[in-house]
Amino acid sequence: MNNNHVTVLEIDSQAVLHNLAYFKQKLQPQTKILAVVKAYGYGSESVEIAKIVQDQVDYFAVAYSNEGIALREAGIKTPILVLQPQIQNLEEIVKYRLEPSLYSFKIFDAFMKLADETPLMNYPIHIKFNTGLNRLGFWHTDVPALIAELKKSNNVKVESIFSHLAASEDPYERDFTVGQINNFAYIVKQVYKHLGYEPMIHILNTSGIINYPQAQFDMVRLGIGLYGFGNDDQETAQLKNTHTLKSIISQIHLIQPGETVGYNRAFVASQTTRSATIPIGHADGISRRLGNKNGFVFINNQPAPIIGNVCMDMIMVDVTKIDCNEGDEVIIFNHQQHVEYMAHKSETIPYEILTALSQRIKRLVK
Ligand code: PLP
Repeated sequence: MNNNHVTVLEIDSQAVLHNLAYFKQKLQPQTKILAVVKAYGYGSESVEIAKIVQDQVDYFAVAYSNEGIALREAGIKTPILVLQPQIQNLEEIVKYRLEPSLYSFKIFDAFMKLADETPLMNYPIHIKFNTGLNRLGFWHTDVPALIAELKKSNNVKVESIFSHLAASEDPYERDFTVGQINNFAYIVKQVYKHLGYEPMIHILNTSGIINYPQAQFDMVRLGIGLYGFGNDDQETAQLKNTHTLKSIISQIHLIQPGETVGYNRAFVASQTTRSATIPIGHADGISRRLGNKNGFVFINNQPAPIIGNVCMDMIMVDVTKIDCNEGDEVIIFNHQQHVEYMAHKSETIPYEILTALSQRIKRLVK
């Protein structure tokens, strides 16, 4: 990647540290923090985010082994939990001393076989239980068979037992969430009783930390909160914006009444219109739903609505009332509220706005 990129995602390292500190002060001093840096650190830059927070967190989590390998190759020494390993990746997981989440007998058996053949000694593994998300994880009824297998071998050591909440952000799902937490606590009790030692336990994500602090157990898994988003506007207001997406104006056209802008001629000028073309499009993560004045950018601190359809590599915005020139800076977003607005208009959530930002946008960590 060269330095000629005009469309840049700036990551504010101080803001990331502020957000981490904010969640830390909500927790008991002994509660460990796992920072979730999967999906390029929620669209930002996982290695850089990991470097910023590594001295202040106890664990990292990534989705896939290659994300963990990238962290190891960058010199990150902190334990790394791989949330979604596949059987094909187990050898490289061990090679890079990554810690697998084992969520089914198929992958558990494959890892135990590898651990036996290598052989490994007390290799840290994490056992994931399904308590209602119904995505990945063992069922509580699997505990006896799992314990029996674990007791046969000292090739592995269960470092943690964990589960994931389905609706921790939703006040209408409190009963369900409390049920998940209770279900998890029951599983933990069974495991502790029969395993002979007590692995760490964890279930909370960002909204979980906010809404169910009583269930922080030994560790919490902080994802979106690190990147500046809380559970609601009030909480988010306490956090700092981490992502600023910028570009420039490539060209300005004067469009006469009756002329159109962009594909399908979706914007028709009703009056003389100055249209500025910005080099970012749906291939970069700007949803087509933001076209036709559903979304806007800021130029010289003034909102410029997106006109016409979002193209693959460009958007056009109305700058009729804005004093600006070709080459001027464009802020696509620099505040969580703007990301939330984009998410709302794109019929999605801020997570997707951030993680959808394409890798051809240059990342700059400040
Ligand atoms: N734990 C697991 C298993 C996850 O999949 C995720 C994110 O999707 C997180 C924790 C972090 O969640 P959040 O970003 O809501 O904090």
